[in-house]
Amino acid sequence: MTALPVRTRFAPSPTGLLHAGNLRTALFNLLLARHCDGEFLLRIEDSDASREQADAVAAIVADLRWLGFDWDTGPSLGQPESAWRQSARRERHADVLRQLLVQGHAYRCFCTPERLAELRAAQQRAGSAPRYDGHCAGLDSHEARARTEAGEPAAIRLRLPAAGHIEFEDVVRGRQAVEARHLGDPVLQRADGSAAFLFANAMDDADAGITHVIRGEDHLSNTPRQIVLLQALGLEPPRYGHVGLVVDAAGAPLSKRRGAPGVESLARDGYRPAAIVNYLARLGSGVESDGLLDIDALAERFEVGRLGRGPARFDLAQLDHWQGLAMADASTAELLEHLGPTPGSAEKRERLVALVRRNLSTMGDLDDWAVRLCDPDLPVLTPDGSPGADASALLAPVREAPAGFFDTVRATLDARAPEDWATLRPALEAATGCRGGRLMKPLRLALTGYAHGPAIGDIIDFMPADTRRARLQRAAAMAAPGAQPDA
Ligand code: GLU
Repeated sequence: MTALPVRTRFAPSPTGLLHAGNLRTALFNLLLARHCDGEFLLRIEDSDASREQADAVAAIVADLRWLGFDWDTGPSLGQPESAWRQSARRERHADVLRQLLVQGHAYRCFCTPERLAELRAAQQRAGSAPRYDGHCAGLDSHEARARTEAGEPAAIRLRLPAAGHIEFEDVVRGRQAVEARHLGDPVLQRADGSAAFLFANAMDDADAGITHVIRGEDHLSNTPRQIVLLQALGLEPPRYGHVGLVVDAAGAPLSKRRGAPGVESLARDGYRPAAIVNYLARLGSGVESDGLLDIDALAERFEVGRLGRGPARFDLAQLDHWQGLAMADASTAELLEHLGPTPGSAEKRERLVALVRRNLSTMGDLDDWAVRLCDPDLPVLTPDGSPGADASALLAPVREAPAGFFDTVRATLDARAPEDWATLRPALEAATGCRGGRLMKPLRLALTGYAHGPAIGDIIDFMPADTRRARLQRAAAMAAPGAQPDA
């Protein structure tokens, strides 16, 4: 690819939580760096202080660490802020701007917001794309400097070539050529003195020796301008690759504003880091393996050539598939750690984990099973089902059980010492006159509220007797003629 040691980066703005879209960008860049034995940098793009949210850097670090990311340069490593925080590089940015002005690659622009708004409106009326018209490009530089020194606010703009094409090789999309006359001279520094994204982003990449930038196609239009900027400074632009965006079910790009789930909420819902990482690594990209892989193994198989140009739909069903693999992969120790000190003794907790581990979609399911199998005070019998499902329909087997069914089951279980399901089952069949699904379905629902779960004999064996009695009594009350559905 290139002779330079590969250096990639993830450059989030600290304006909120990371979601699947920007996490995937982070992951692709990390995998590329690790694939090439290169370095990965985490840069915080906080030039626009007005948009910064308190604690956002800490949250970004926590989210990425939880997912298992590590970086060679970035926050939390004890390195100077100037190595990773954009706002700590203001002096460097100011020096470069001075150089660009002196060399004539940039110029001061005194256009007021009102003039620019009028210009945009006129262009819109004429049906042309908005672009700066070069109004200040011809100002005498000494005069412009004097006006600035006299206190007149001015932005600084990059002088783009007036004609010809700006060309570059996109590592995802192939050869790109943009006609320079379609581009307006972009702002490098706003009139308030803050560095514009386009400028600070490209400068920091060049200064950090970034060789490859994988980012969303929403940045594609910035790239030719950034290339012109870096070339004007005699700096080597990184190789850019623009991937299709991650979109939601409606086809709109994921965004925090539109409620895309962040790492924190995925973690709260019980998703495991390995599930998220494995899903994102395959989202709009190919990996030659259907198995759950760790970051090193994903990096080994990572190929830039397999990154997709088209939009990639974020699909929870796919994430759930990876979650299933990640849960099956969870060790007993991890499950026990999640469970915490309840319920009961270490032996009981281990038995619980062994009993339900094949029935877990998320870590949260473990807590749910702990309550369902141990807590005698589960307030209502709540059946499983998709949100909005008709709870009373799901509980129909309980209501439709023959008269006296649950009392008979309770008395039978109370009268017998714990024993194998193989002997208990015929005893229950004989006592209730029900077999197969007519015995099992109402019994399972009465005991757990779920139509699925571990083997019923194991549930009976595990469940404390007082919990079992309380559940069967409640089911009996629901099944009684004239009873109201309890759900
Ligand atoms: N801070 C920019 C963003 O979050 C970085 C874009 C880039 O990767 O160059 O969109």
